[in-house]
Amino acid sequence: MANYAKTHIGNESRVELHEVLGLTGAEVSVNNLPAGAGVPFVHAHKENEEIYGVLEGAGSVTIDGEEIELAAGDWLRISPAAHRQFRAASDSGITYVCIQVKQGPLMPSQPTTLSCSNSRSVCKGPMKPRPLAPCTNLLTQNCLTSRPASRKRGGGTLCRFRE
Ligand code: ZN
Repeated sequence: MANYAKTHIGNESRVELHEVLGLTGAEVSVNNLPAGAGVPFVHAHKENEEIYGVLEGAGSVTIDGEEIELAAGDWLRISPAAHRQFRAASDSGITYVCIQVKQGPLMPSQPTTLSCSNSRSVCKGPMKPRPLAPCTNLLTQNCLTSRPASRKRGGGTLCRFRE
């Protein structure tokens, strides 16, 4: 099987790249609404955020009751729970892409730096488990294991971080 998939989209009213390209981590749709037309329903999601990009034309979206004007070049992020409905302008069609992906994986789950009293090492977390390093001032919920360090190793607490 090839290591890539390519397709070409003309002016179909809606194409789901998930099917066409065999996507495995995101749903991407390309949508075309003619002037005066709108998506006939309001929808929301449980866990997925959506990123919308307007490629051509103009229109608007209602998000939780607020109407937002859209023009080519506009991009939006919409939280999962928001109720949304897109429509084209009365005098212009609109072409937009929608990227739907699970919210959260790029957010750091912990502060990125933990400071150590021992100057020999700086512990950073979250990170892959690594050899025990002398460190105090821990966020203990970020530790897989911890135990007191010997004086010889600089004292403090030894910890192994969760990924
Ligand atoms: Zn959606």
